[in-house]
Amino acid sequence: MGRPSTGLRQKPKNNPMLAVDFPEDLKPFLAPAPGGDMGYDCLACGARHAPDQLLYTCPACGGLLMLTDRKIGRLRDKPGSFWRRLFDHRLMLNLQAVRGVFTFHEFLAPNVPLADIVYLGEGHTPVVAAPPVLAKTVGAPFFVKMEGQNPSASFKDRGMAAALSMLNHLVRVKNMGQVIAVCASTGDTSAAAALYASSLGSAVKSAVLLPQGRVTPQQLSQPLGAGAAVFELPGVFDDSMKVVERLSERYQVALLNSKNPWRVLGQESYAYEVAQQFDYSLRDKVLVVPVGNAGNVTAILSGLLKFHRASVTDGLPKIVAVQSTRANPVFLYYRQPEGRRSYSPVEVRPSVAQAAMIGDPVSFPRLAALSAAYEQEAGPSSFFVVEVDETSIMEGMLLANRHGLTVCTQGGECMAGLKAALREGLITPSETPVLDSTAHALKFVDFQNAYFEGRLKNEYGVLTRPELANQPRSLDLGPAPTPAGGRSLSPEERELFVSAAAERIAKALGLAGKE
Ligand SMILES: *Cc1c(COP(=O)(O)O)cnc(C)c1O
Ligand SMILES: [Zn+2]
Repeated sequence: MGRPSTGLRQKPKNNPMLAVDFPEDLKPFLAPAPGGDMGYDCLACGARHAPDQLLYTCPACGGLLMLTDRKIGRLRDKPGSFWRRLFDHRLMLNLQAVRGVFTFHEFLAPNVPLADIVYLGEGHTPVVAAPPVLAKTVGAPFFVKMEGQNPSASFKDRGMAAALSMLNHLVRVKNMGQVIAVCASTGDTSAAAALYASSLGSAVKSAVLLPQGRVTPQQLSQPLGAGAAVFELPGVFDDSMKVVERLSERYQVALLNSKNPWRVLGQESYAYEVAQQFDYSLRDKVLVVPVGNAGNVTAILSGLLKFHRASVTDGLPKIVAVQSTRANPVFLYYRQPEGRRSYSPVEVRPSVAQAAMIGDPVSFPRLAALSAAYEQEAGPSSFFVVEVDETSIMEGMLLANRHGLTVCTQGGECMAGLKAALREGLITPSETPVLDSTAHALKFVDFQNAYFEGRLKNEYGVLTRPELANQPRSLDLGPAPTPAGGRSLSPEERELFVSAAAERIAKALGLAGKE
């Protein structure tokens, strides 16, 4: 399938560091061989199933599955300092397979051979300190991890890299013939699924189901561009999800929704990278994460626990999960007193944080299990859920952009969540918040444009502030000739046009003339 060779190249071009130059004790580990003892564990009945098959729910009881490594204890045989050095050196290694999320191969999906890894440039997104003007506006210094800089412009690429690597592996070793991969999506899952599937040629064909009118035009263009079969269905995401579930029950398909537990493993890399980017010191950090289907926050909790248990990090950060008041089942669950909580799905209402507009999160059972385990190890008050309104989400996005950072609406949701957490005293001044801007701002730019033009639909319930709006300005050039409509101007006419336009712009900007 034309995957890059996995042998360590001795004289690669543009290599920041040759394998021969690495410390002796790390050399044997730079390109890891398959290892571990992976298997699917059922969260409901406890059954264990072999990993060399595509499972989404427990064949015994229908419960949700989690992939675990029974030999994970082996990672503790080495000191945390070994893993820190190994991962840091891998960043300098010219080996595609371990450049992306599989930098953390041993902790992620150690059964996948390097030769089958699909790498399209995902992961290792920058963590950027909020410019001081932005920190001042929000009320505290903080960082943002720019997940929009992934290949399909959202963090969903992390999970797809893992899921499609595993699928690629199974296609090769099991001679599966053509696989039809399906998913339902709020936009970004389908963009990522279609892109990664398309990199495997005819072996994998992807089909995506989208709620009509509930993904942005940019998001719709992505699976179309990648050649997927795109189906628009009436209703919201939760409705499309039900159809995908029916397809996976009745037909031979590979499911790429967050029920696919390989995706969760890939998304754990977010936690590993944050650790690495803060020199493995997480004790005083607060990770702020938007929650829709709860796949992302679940993966982050799981990754943090794995690194902590292997002493790779110095402790566990606080987690602030954020939901819109219009899609808040997770918030409503955790608001109830511990021990007496009950879960119910909600009917969603339109939200500008559209990628998180989910009323019945598929990964909720995983989240409930993991957040309890997390609080056990990180201590009480280490996991919070806050809710924020639509106005604060839009303003979060716009204010970030006004002060140097581009974040998507879900990044805006994190900004609003950070403000809410500061207001409620959930974050102390000695702690450093790290926000997840889950996608690229340009995917959601239509919300910004509608806000600016005063045509954001009432259904979103956003109160607009005119001072935040911005619009292109046209100039009244009076009688001056103009190149409008492609008309070519004589040198004299061009002179009249240029001086008329320059004068009016200088006046509008209040420019002082030169002596
Ligand atoms: C999918 C998605 C979310 C929500 O993540 P979940 O794993 O569904 O909780 C948030 N933001 C963006 C941009 C997304 O694509
Ligand atoms: Zn089961």
